[in-house]
Amino acid sequence: MKKHNYSAGPSILPQEVFEKASQAVLNFNNSGLSILEISHRSKDFVAVMDEARSLALELLGLTGKGYQALFLQGGASTAFLMAPYNLMKEGGKAAYLDSGTWATAAIKEAKNFGETIIVASSKEENYNHIPKGYEIPADAAYFHCTSNNTIFGTQMKDFPATNVPVVCDMSSDIFSRELDFSKFDLIYAGAQKNMGPAGTTLVVVKEEILEKSGRTIPSMLDYAKHIKAESMYNTPPVFAVYVSLLTLQWIKSKGGIAAVEKLNNAKAALLYNEIDRNPLFKGAAAVEDRSNMNVTFLLTNPDHTETFDKLWKEANISGLPGHRSVGGYRASIYNAMPIESVQVLVDVMKALETKV
Ligand code: PMP
Repeated sequence: MKKHNYSAGPSILPQEVFEKASQAVLNFNNSGLSILEISHRSKDFVAVMDEARSLALELLGLTGKGYQALFLQGGASTAFLMAPYNLMKEGGKAAYLDSGTWATAAIKEAKNFGETIIVASSKEENYNHIPKGYEIPADAAYFHCTSNNTIFGTQMKDFPATNVPVVCDMSSDIFSRELDFSKFDLIYAGAQKNMGPAGTTLVVVKEEILEKSGRTIPSMLDYAKHIKAESMYNTPPVFAVYVSLLTLQWIKSKGGIAAVEKLNNAKAALLYNEIDRNPLFKGAAAVEDRSNMNVTFLLTNPDHTETFDKLWKEANISGLPGHRSVGGYRASIYNAMPIESVQVLVDVMKALETKV
């Protein structure tokens, strides 16, 4: 029986994406060949890459606005160093918001390239909120932020107004909500949450910010080279790109980001309402910064752990334990999570009241 999968990533994808992807492994486009055995330069795969790149821009409302979409490798962790490599001059500086573990990892990489200013941090409070009220230096090469903190369950609801280019790690909430994406100059996201399997990273970049760092950039880390090569500088991760395309098509068929966001809001409200109503639970993140993707919560009395764990496992739920740096539970309710599955979890939380 299919489980209710709350894993933080790799994570749930739409069932119809799994089915179409399985079919393509056996017989892609009725070609008599598997997607896994065709050349990345074949007509069929070039069409996949082209559509994935253009559909990503279309869904974000960025078509014709000077942006390029790329499907690269190396995960978001490689994007951490590609951002300063491509955007920061020798001896330059960049501004970072320290909102969690992944922001810290991005900061660590940037420090190898130049002065890295942490404009604000919520580290002292174990990243239970998004820092606010900070200044971004006007001479920074860019400002970097993490839109959704996968581990701590916090999400930026507002982005600072600034004249410096904005770089955003949207790994765990890309395509989940409407934003004015033209306010961002560089967006990157590991595919393995809202978009596809692990193995590719979506990069959306405003072309005009590139080729200004004056650095000699290794080819594989050079966004401009990847754009010139139409995201085929080397063999791309063909299967990860194909499955990402299927997910993007699924988002479009649902009515695009606006429709998906509506459902995401309903799912998050259902779960947070139960966390707030049920005296046996408490939320881990500051209410105003709560993530609609990763819902972190704790038992008010840890003695109930064994009973609760038994209940959710019996309900066919998987992937619920929280990250070790927060403890408790983390329900990742990405785009593909049906509201019916969220209801199963809420019912289990209610059931705990009758058991303790
Ligand atoms: N940023 C965020 C917000 C993440 O959640 C993750 C992974 N969970 C990463 C970066 C690192 O991504 P990758 O494993 O693709 O390098």
